[in-house]
Amino acid sequence: PLSVTNVIEPHRICVCIRKRPMNKQELNRREIDVVSVPGRGALLVHEPKQKVDLTKYLDNQIFQFDYSFDETSTNDLVYRFTAKPLVQSIFEGGMATCFAYGQTGSGKTHTMGGDFSGKQQNCSKGIYALAAQDVFAHLGQRRYANLNLSAYVSFFEIYNGKVYDLLNKKTMLRVLQDEHQQVQVVDLKEVYVPSADEVIKMIQLGSASRTFGQTSANANSSRSHAILQIILRRNDRASTLHGKFSLVDLAGNERGIDVNSNDRATLVETAEINRSLLALKECIRSLGMNSDHIPFRMSTLTKVLRDSFIGENSRTCMIAMVSPGMASCECTMNTLRYADRYA
Ligand code: ADP
Ligand code: MG
Repeated sequence: PLSVTNVIEPHRICVCIRKRPMNKQELNRREIDVVSVPGRGALLVHEPKQKVDLTKYLDNQIFQFDYSFDETSTNDLVYRFTAKPLVQSIFEGGMATCFAYGQTGSGKTHTMGGDFSGKQQNCSKGIYALAAQDVFAHLGQRRYANLNLSAYVSFFEIYNGKVYDLLNKKTMLRVLQDEHQQVQVVDLKEVYVPSADEVIKMIQLGSASRTFGQTSANANSSRSHAILQIILRRNDRASTLHGKFSLVDLAGNERGIDVNSNDRATLVETAEINRSLLALKECIRSLGMNSDHIPFRMSTLTKVLRDSFIGENSRTCMIAMVSPGMASCECTMNTLRYADRYA
């Protein structure tokens, strides 16, 4: 297993894989676990434990990531290697972003901790709560005291390219871009938070409105991106922005839904998700190459995260989630290929 002493000097882009345990249904179906994480976690081999013809999908492919977390890893462990270093960076005036990527059911929300509807979530803190606690621990430290900072949160969802404020009755908001290329989500609610508990309350409030109405044509939570932002502002007259941490629970990357669907709404949804995930990939890749041109205009997702891709102090972490079962194999391969591009 990984230990904290393994932490390498953090770099601007970190790409990790997290494999969740087999669930009851997969075990009942006697699905084969096709994902294994050998070595110190930095490597992920994809191989069947029993002989089956997997050649359609893979030939024992090996992928290399910054970290790979196997099914025994806890949210705490994942947090320490992924989002924790980013909390530090926002106190240094940085823009940090952490993405949870993967197919529906692979563990994005479990990892981020944005869904508090189940009892399970309450006993296993996700990255949202762990990051919030860390932010307030930092705020209490003497070395940051003279920065005179306060914390705020905003929480919104992007569905079909439209922004909805989860802290304000799911109001639809406009995204504006001024002549200096600055992007603004007009009237996005930013709530002052005096403690980590208050952040968690806001997340619960927002998550509840996220899942609400899931059966209607409106925003199914697995078809939308949820973005929680923890914002540090100076306590000066202008409330100057100091640092911002965006934690993004991305829409499920599964394709195939459209193949069997005659439903036009679903087709549009899927196309929009693919477009935004592609845009994200392009932006992160450009960031990694220190390119001057970041194609953030390609989608609403990358537009609202523009700050995260611009500037010296941007740091990004992508946690790609994979399901272990054979039935998810194709999706898993897609996820690994997506993540592999910038590893
Ligand atoms: P997603 O948000 O990617 O659709 P979820 O986070 O909702 O997926 O996970 C689907 C189910 O699997 C949930 O019941 C969740 O509690 C469970 N799960 C996901 N990851 C883990 C994990 N690492 N350990 C235990 N259970 C997990
Ligand atoms: Mg989810």
